[in-house]
Amino acid sequence: MTEGIANLADLEPGWVWLTGAGPGDPGLLTLYAWQGLRQADVVVYDALVSPEILDLARPGCVLQYAGKRGGKPSPKQADISERLVRLARQDKRVLRLKGGDPFVFGRGGEEALALVAAGIPFRIVPGVTSGIGGLAYAGIPLTHRDTNASVTFVTGHSAAGAVPETVDWTGVARGSGTLVVFMPLKHLAEIAGRLLAAGRDAGEPAALIVKATTAEQQVLETTLGASAEDAAAAGLEPPALFVLGEVVRLRAGLDWLGALHGRALVADPLNRHRISETG
Ligand code: SAH
Repeated sequence: MTEGIANLADLEPGWVWLTGAGPGDPGLLTLYAWQGLRQADVVVYDALVSPEILDLARPGCVLQYAGKRGGKPSPKQADISERLVRLARQDKRVLRLKGGDPFVFGRGGEEALALVAAGIPFRIVPGVTSGIGGLAYAGIPLTHRDTNASVTFVTGHSAAGAVPETVDWTGVARGSGTLVVFMPLKHLAEIAGRLLAAGRDAGEPAALIVKATTAEQQVLETTLGASAEDAAAAGLEPPALFVLGEVVRLRAGLDWLGALHGRALVADPLNRHRISETG
């Protein structure tokens, strides 16, 4: 089906492809996600999958929404899994499309296990997680030799809606150069407080990246200490990522998207940091 590309598997009737759609920009879809969109009978998609991506679905393909709607609570995970099983048993070609990567805070594992339990054949198609792609579009490298050799992805929101108690915030604060917090906005003040209490510097550079890789992308550069207040003052809304670490300074040099809109890029952003610290 995907002409000119050899050996891509086809989405067969009775199969489910549990697929990452990337952070928003359709250009970040994988060839398998694209293949699935071209071949699916039904696409079951989440709120974070962008309309431009759903537009790529084959004409006649049924699009089923599986996220929150009109303030109502989101469908239970079990209901979504059951729906996937039911559609596959009807011999449909089912594309389960999730924002970013299905196995990064996306409950893809739960859905896949439900398919296993029901004996439904499936493929996992990874996607560009917002935690990587979103940073790239903000001009922030996850790692940089001069600044950090480790990264942690952490969620700012537990299933119960609170700051997750299963996260060792002190360990994360001490052990990781770059921190990328998913779902950060609701509890940002508390998260920042825990990181500060564990010894991170209030002046450490931080950024909030909203609707990354879409036409509405916003990046707020701030510091750990000021982040919660700045986010509230700017009225930021989800989906957003919070990035903490020296790598955020590199944005002054690497904001390639901003450069397209006239931002002048600094060739040596880390050196500039040294001057401003002593000056
Ligand atoms: N599986 C997804 C994450 C799902 S959890 C992935 O790999 O990206 C939902 C959270 O992901 C959001 O609250 C936000 O923190 C983050 N997110 C997803 N898409 C985003 C985007 N385009 N811009 C900013 N954050 C995003």
